[in-house]
Amino acid sequence: MKDEDWHQNTNLVHAGTARSNNNETSEALFMSSGFIYENAEQAAASFRDETDNFVYSRYGNPTVRMLEERLAKLEGAETCRATGTGMAAVFAALACQLSKGDRVVASRALFGACYAILAKILPGWGIEVVFVNGGKLDEWEYALSVATKVVFLETPSNPLLQIIDLEVVCNLAKKAGANVIVDNVFATPLYQKPLQLGADIVTYSATKHIDGQGRLLAGAVLGNADFMTEQFLPFYRQTGPTISAFNAWIMLKSLETLSVRVERQTQNAASIAATLSAHPKIKQIFYPGLPSHPDYEVACRQMSGAGSIVAFELMGGRENAFAFLNALNLILISNNLGDAKSLITHPTTTTHQNLSEEERAIIGITEGHLRLSAGLEHKDDLNEDILQALKYVS
Ligand SMILES: *Cc1c(COP(=O)(O)O)cnc(C)c1O
Repeated sequence: MKDEDWHQNTNLVHAGTARSNNNETSEALFMSSGFIYENAEQAAASFRDETDNFVYSRYGNPTVRMLEERLAKLEGAETCRATGTGMAAVFAALACQLSKGDRVVASRALFGACYAILAKILPGWGIEVVFVNGGKLDEWEYALSVATKVVFLETPSNPLLQIIDLEVVCNLAKKAGANVIVDNVFATPLYQKPLQLGADIVTYSATKHIDGQGRLLAGAVLGNADFMTEQFLPFYRQTGPTISAFNAWIMLKSLETLSVRVERQTQNAASIAATLSAHPKIKQIFYPGLPSHPDYEVACRQMSGAGSIVAFELMGGRENAFAFLNALNLILISNNLGDAKSLITHPTTTTHQNLSEEERAIIGITEGHLRLSAGLEHKDDLNEDILQALKYVS
């Protein structure tokens, strides 16, 4: 069996492994900022990009390269570059191809820092950014009737798990001449393959499910070889969003268990979603695996799993949301997600507090909304914790 024929779970454990002369079982950790050359001629050739030698760890490192190869295989991408954080990945993917006068179209329901880059930083540099309601195809159609450089979107979105039809939006973007960047964190590389649906670039915060054990920050950018070599790589090398070899090594070991963890988290999320949807104190629930989700049909078409995040709205606004959070015994209050531990957050006062009330209203985030990231605990313990805490909601 050739490497190319491996299934996803085999790739997670083996893809990209490059053993040293010691034939170690586990991937080696190369904590070295620089590399040496046989002679001056080889050094000169390496700087002309005429050798495969590593030159300097800001450009590339053997441990980081193993992580990049494994992620590329998992995604079905030609090239991957790992970054120090998810935001470094998002920012580099945008900044490497945008300049003054360019136009960007983005969905409005985004991770807070992504929204801040698009709404505040890029416009300050003379880049036009147009926001649309990602769920409304007529808004995409109208915004993309003008020549556009980049489309940026997140599906399922943070925090309310809005689903965007990737195939339709990628087709519209292509006609407008735009590169589509998909921030694929919530779906994870297991459950959604944006490149197969027409996207050009995929970004990850590997801090979330890929590490999945709350230890460190990391990110990745994936795309075709032309884009990555000609546009992304020069920007990456000179501006330095590089991941450390140590963090890359942790991520390599994390990938080995990614599918085992995400499958369990998804089973737990589905169980929690069922518990919540049957409860009278829940006003609305957002989980792509439930037929009640407004975009259920699109989710079934483009995702192979519903994921580990559940959002819901409690009756009675902030007062009840806080009473519920404070009554939880097992589920922890934290703004992180994708962790082994179940975590819950109140977006209005945490992850999305930088948005104006008006901006939150447009996205539909209210004081009663909560976002829950299901962990690896036993589902009965999680459901029991939720049911006892709901008793404190009036
Ligand atoms: C967390 C997150 C990011 C940012 O990643 P960091 O690793 O925190 O820098 C970007 N997009 C989404 C959807 C996220 O959840």
